[in-house]
Amino acid sequence: MAEALTNWAGNITYSAKELQRPRSLDALRALVAGSERVRVLGSGHSFNLIADPGPEGVLLSLTALPPSIEVDTAARTVRVAGGVRYAELARAVHGQGFALPNMASLPHISVAGSVATGTHGSGNTNGSLASPVREVELVLADGSDLTIGRDDPRFDGAVTSLGALGVVTALTLDLAPDFEVAQHVFRELPLAGLDFETVSASAYSVSLFTDWRRSGFVQAWVKRRTDVPWDGFPWAEPSAEAMHPVPGMPAVNCTQQFGVPGPWHERLPHFRPEFTPSSGSELQSEYLLPRSYAVDALHAVDAIRETVAPVLQICEVRTVAADSQWLSPAYGRDTVALHFTWVEDTAVVLPVVRRLEEALAPFAPRPHWGKVFAVTAAAVRERYPRMGDFKALAEGLDPRGTFRNSFVSEVLG
Ligand SMILES: Cc1cc2nc3c(=O)[nH]c(=O)nc-3n(C[C@H](O)[C@H](O)[C@H](O)COP(=O)(O)OP(=O)(O)OC[C@H]3O[C@@H](n4cnc5c(N)ncnc54)[C@H](O)[C@@H]3O)c2cc1C
Repeated sequence: MAEALTNWAGNITYSAKELQRPRSLDALRALVAGSERVRVLGSGHSFNLIADPGPEGVLLSLTALPPSIEVDTAARTVRVAGGVRYAELARAVHGQGFALPNMASLPHISVAGSVATGTHGSGNTNGSLASPVREVELVLADGSDLTIGRDDPRFDGAVTSLGALGVVTALTLDLAPDFEVAQHVFRELPLAGLDFETVSASAYSVSLFTDWRRSGFVQAWVKRRTDVPWDGFPWAEPSAEAMHPVPGMPAVNCTQQFGVPGPWHERLPHFRPEFTPSSGSELQSEYLLPRSYAVDALHAVDAIRETVAPVLQICEVRTVAADSQWLSPAYGRDTVALHFTWVEDTAVVLPVVRRLEEALAPFAPRPHWGKVFAVTAAAVRERYPRMGDFKALAEGLDPRGTFRNSFVSEVLG
């Protein structure tokens, strides 16, 4: 490519021979059919090579296609084009009196790219962002169209699919009735004696933050639905000032706190769409493991915190309900997600990632598909009981391997 193209974090330079932005679906179909290797670029928020097609491949951006968002008020669904980001989708859905059940920490990410990697928010009863998806529209390698809905036996492989089946040109999602959320931030929650099940179940969405400089959590972000009775958060003191989860970052970047009720999409993400999310200068890793192991896993990290803390900006602990997408990191198990925002230095971070993976290995963690991890592809495969079914699906829909890249080939084995 004439100009180097990087991901959001800047730690990945895509090696693709060209970046293409088709202006119509017909142009997209022709481009895909005429290319040997293609990967779609969403909003580029992944921290690894998952989107990179390799030096012979085409990187395809959907940003020049119409950003259509069609709410069907009778069916309570929304059909959203493949390039649309959550911020735009959420505003449109809210404007029609509906809601999405959950959002990630940031609304800047594309819907198709997020569900492709199993992106999630928090909440014991909230599935990943792929959970409300009811239909996927794909352009396959030969340029033909395929729609896969919930009644199709392939559906559970088709949403969290790592971009390996085709170009997702549109998704249809179930909508919930509009609701309001109040967000409260608490300070200093000890790890000793933590009743994780009760704490994580205490509101619609709960996130615990620690810098691992000492045991315990420095902040707890509690997002409660205002239409559901709430017993409070008796384990920590409310913060007297507005907070950002990353030390030293301005709280103005974050969504409203202090329990002020507001629309779901202005409270469920931690970061506001018009500001840089997180620290903006970082790498991220995340490991998803059975929620029943949460306390043991937290103690395992606590035992190596002197290794972790020096390269860590912040660690966030969230929960995700089990789902049925074959490649979802929450597949078949109610999940706790241990997320790490590292300093922006791959060389010093990678050895710590390896040490962390050793410490968490007894809990069969599944790494987030869009983040930095070092565990071998063989070990990852073992943690996905339906990996073989996904591989067969990908080979059936894409026999020439047009949508394969090194990342996907390694994972599928
Ligand atoms: C600051 C920050 C905060 C984050 N917070 C969270 C969080 O709260 N929870 C969480 O789980 N993750 C989080 N992430 C990770 C992020 O959600 C995932 O990496 C997600 O995949 C990013 O979406 P994207 O649109 O940028 O996808 P990209 O990184 O562009 O692509 C991801 C994958 O999707 C594929 N893809 C994208 N669009 C299409 C399409 N239309 N058709 C086919 N394949 C497609 C790509 O080929 C690639 O394989 C965060 C990342 C950052 C940078």
